[in-house]
Formats: sequence, C-alpha cells, structure tokens
Amino acid sequence: MSQQTRAYNFNPGPAALPLEVLQQAQEQFVDFQGIGMSIMEISHRSKQYEQVNDEAQALMKELLGIPSGYEVLFLQGGASTQFAMIPMNLLQAGTSAGYVLTGTWSDKAYKEAKLIGTAYAAASGQENGFTRIPGQEELTIQADTAYVHITSNETVAGSQFMQYPDTGSVPLIGDLSSDIMCRPVDVSQFGLIYAGAQKNLGPSGVTIVIIREDLLQNTPKHLPTMLRYDTHVKGKSLYNTPPVYSVYMVNLVLQWIKQIGGLAKMEQLNQIKTKLIYDAIDQSGGFYRGLVDPSSRSLMNITFALQNEELEARFFKESENNGFVGLKGHRDVGHMRASTYNAVPYESCKALAEFMKDFQKKNG
Ligand code: PMP
Repeated sequence: MSQQTRAYNFNPGPAALPLEVLQQAQEQFVDFQGIGMSIMEISHRSKQYEQVNDEAQALMKELLGIPSGYEVLFLQGGASTQFAMIPMNLLQAGTSAGYVLTGTWSDKAYKEAKLIGTAYAAASGQENGFTRIPGQEELTIQADTAYVHITSNETVAGSQFMQYPDTGSVPLIGDLSSDIMCRPVDVSQFGLIYAGAQKNLGPSGVTIVIIREDLLQNTPKHLPTMLRYDTHVKGKSLYNTPPVYSVYMVNLVLQWIKQIGGLAKMEQLNQIKTKLIYDAIDQSGGFYRGLVDPSSRSLMNITFALQNEELEARFFKESENNGFVGLKGHRDVGHMRASTYNAVPYESCKALAEFMKDFQKKNG
C-alpha cells in the first residue's frame, strides 16, 4: 500500500502511525530477525526482546536529550493509571499537589489526585473556557507542595504550553501523552514526564514514564508492588511481562523519528503542516473559527467551529466522503478537531486545507 491509498487519518488517538514503520513491522511480523517466530511468541527475558527494550530506552534518552539521573520506564495501564500512581508515589502526608487546570485531561488527573490526597488548582483556565493556557503570573504554588502537575497538550481543547511554568524547587510533572516528541523538550525542567504511546509513539498498551531518581526515595511502604515506580526501575521495566509488541513498535517509531532528523526537525515539519490548516481557518473571514487563543494553539490537535451545527454536520459528512477520518470534535467540546500528530503526513494536511477552502467556496 502506498501513502496515496491510505486514509487521511486525523484520529485523536489511537492515531496515525508512519507507513514506513507499519511496513517494517509487517516484514518482521512472522519471523523476527530470522528466529522463526514473531517477537510476540518469545520470552520477554530473551536476548532478542531485551535488545528491543534497551534500544527503545536508549533512543528515548537520545532523542529527548534526557540528562543523567533520570530513568525511562515502559509501564502498562495507560496514562490514566499515572493519574493515580503519581500521587500514590509522590504525595506524602502533610503535603499537597498543585494542578494547572487547562481542560479535560488535567481535570481528570486532578480529580484522581484528590481521591488519594490533598490537591489544589495552582492555576485554572476555566474562566476563559480553557481557550488559553495560563501564564507564569497566574500560577500560585502553596507551601508544602509536593509537585505541580501540568498537561502539556490538551488533546480535547486543542491547547498547548508554549513555555513550561517555572516551579522553582517544586518538581514539575508533565502529562505529555499527546505531544511527546513533537518538539524538543528540556527534560531537566521536569521531575517526571509521562505519556501514553498511542498518539505520537506507537500503538496503545505502553505508557512511557521518565522519572528523576531523587523522586524514588520516599515511596510509601504500603504501596502495592506493581504501583511503585521503584519496582519498575529495579526491574528495568521487566518486573512482570511487559507489552512486548507495543514496546517493539515504539522502538520502530523512535528509529523513524531519528531518521527524519530528531525533534527539532519534527517540530519544523509539524509547524509547516499545522500552518496549512490554521491559515485556512484564519483566512476564512470568520467562516471557520479557531477554538483556542492563537497564543496557545496546539501543534497536535487543531480545534475549530463552523457557524452552526447544520453546517458542521455537512462538513463532517462531506469530509468523510472525501476520505478524511476522525475530524469530529470530542464529545466534551463538540465542533471539529484535526489531530496532526507526527505521523500524519504533510499531504493529509494539505488535502484538508484544500478541502476546507473548497467547502467554504460552496457553502460560504
Ligand atoms: N492524557 C492526555 C493528554 C490524553 O490525551 C489521554 C488520552 N486521550 C490520556 C491522558 C489518557 O490516556 P490513556 O487512554 O492512555 O489512559
């Protein structure tokens, strides 16, 4: 199959994967490295799988420029399990956690933390309907704060931090599920980064956690083994049977990013792609309306509205008839959303921008 015959996939997650990666996985599917078996049929303690695990960890470190003193883990349970594991491991009695509220996903993380301990809103975009990421001056960090949590990219609202908050000596925790590897990141700003793989890194089933070693020191003794970060650090992410195929696919996607030229190049490509669609919105004279303030617009999820529901329904139907997939906005927000993750090709974005202009001509 060539890129021309693939769908214009704008799904929010699970999302598009690079065609080259899918083809490589297909080639190796039945017989991995000449062993006469697939990677799914061998022990996770085999030297073949160990190599995949080590390579994926090394590539994460290389591409993100992770400094020494951090561990990279491959865990299960999705980013949603991290919403609980973070306060379980890091929120000691007598401390509280600050959450920067920017939309659906930060709110979920916040609610989960409140089930476990004391959490407060360190800043909130609720008043402006989550159309803008709060700035540094809007941040309040209380005394005895164990960590401050942010959602780097709000997948539903379509907003993204352009600059991460400075939290001083308080560890910053980042949910990068929907924008990890879309641009360079200074990992040293964070105590912990986590991301479900199924948008920018591979299929679902594995969640990446990057944790600074000093945060492993005060894990409460009563925590169940599987929910402790130190278990997975000691076990090199092989404490129990890992999601072998997902990690294998992540390794291939990381190789693909490296081959393209790394994260600075990825960001450049993402900017070119998203500009096509944001320009179609901004130059439409109000026919399309972006849902997020331009200062906080996401490189990964472009949200926009048309003038009324009837027009939106027509837009969606016609987009489907023209080979576009996944453009309906999330049920929390409605309207339209085009998810333009790393693996969504330039051609798909160009086709969407042209479709938008054409639709406006016919319906404007
Ligand atoms: N955080 C963000 C920013 C997300 O977009 C998502 C999934 N859409 C999640 C967390 C939850 O991820 P998972 O389904 O892996 O639990």
